[in-house]
Amino acid sequence: MILLDGKVISEQMKAEIAQEVENIKKQGGKIPHLAAILVGHDGGSETYVGNKEKSCNQVGFRSTVLRFEDTITEVQLLEEINKLNNNPEIDGFIVQMPLPKHISEQKVTEAIDPKKDVDGFHPLNIGRMTIGMPAYISATPDGIIELLRRYKIETLGKHCVVLGRSNIVGRPISNLLSLKGYPGDCTVTVCHSRTKNIPEITRTADILIVALGQAEYVTADMVKEGAVVIDVGINRIKSDKTKSGWKLLGDVKFDEVAPKCSYITPVPGGVGLLTIISLLKNTLKATKKEIYG
Ligand code: NDP
Repeated sequence: MILLDGKVISEQMKAEIAQEVENIKKQGGKIPHLAAILVGHDGGSETYVGNKEKSCNQVGFRSTVLRFEDTITEVQLLEEINKLNNNPEIDGFIVQMPLPKHISEQKVTEAIDPKKDVDGFHPLNIGRMTIGMPAYISATPDGIIELLRRYKIETLGKHCVVLGRSNIVGRPISNLLSLKGYPGDCTVTVCHSRTKNIPEITRTADILIVALGQAEYVTADMVKEGAVVIDVGINRIKSDKTKSGWKLLGDVKFDEVAPKCSYITPVPGGVGLLTIISLLKNTLKATKKEIYG
């Protein structure tokens, strides 16, 4: 069994991005500049945005955080988005979700210029990705693709079972893995809460991607010998054995599943660590105008 190590890959990718920034600097080019809009004071969102700023600094990007009170109106927020769309200093930006209830997340997502949509949530980017055109791909599916690539995992003709059909994980990754070329060419089955006989289906998976949000859902009897298992789930569970009073568990019962696998991701330390790197990668692409020219 080989561990798909998100820490090792993320460090490797950060170093590659930092090197590219150095090269850009030497050539007098534009330093990538990522902006983030943060509305309100949600603890989780503050942490995510803080981590994004830190990662930007580590690779030599510029970063800007625009903070607004949660009393901001939808119209005002859309105006701020428009300003970023038209600001040539900003290469890409994100709007940290969730937003206050009086603001439509869909409207906000659609207001972002697709050329600056480094989160890859704009319907244009999703559509382009779906038909295999160059597009900003959102962080989690992109992180999974990076893991498959970097560990040179064979995908051609493999049966890939994806547990979960959310717009941010299950749906995009099942689409990407069915596209022509590496790392695609899989035969993909997508399962969800209405799927019957999930264990029967997962037992036929060469590659099993699990994104349910159900702690330790996948057990050893559900996995084929030699399968590649990618656990996207992050579940915060109460624990009296840790100082913090809680622990993180994946959607896969790691201890019993790992011995059966050829490759498996740990939680934490797997896919999660790559998501921030995908955002940096997309920002670099935006600066270099790689997707839209
Ligand atoms: P969602 O809640 O949006 O989607 C969950 C999906 O799983 C749905 O399609 C749902 O089916 C299906 N599902 C839930 N329970 C069952 C069940 N018992 N049997 C069959 N299907 C089920 O979750 P996300 O996709 O946003 O996230 C999934 C997990 O991944 C979460 O733990 C989340 O924290 C984690 N995550 C991790 C990230 C990372 O960076 N590593 C990034 C994003 C998410 P239906 O559609 O029918 O309701």
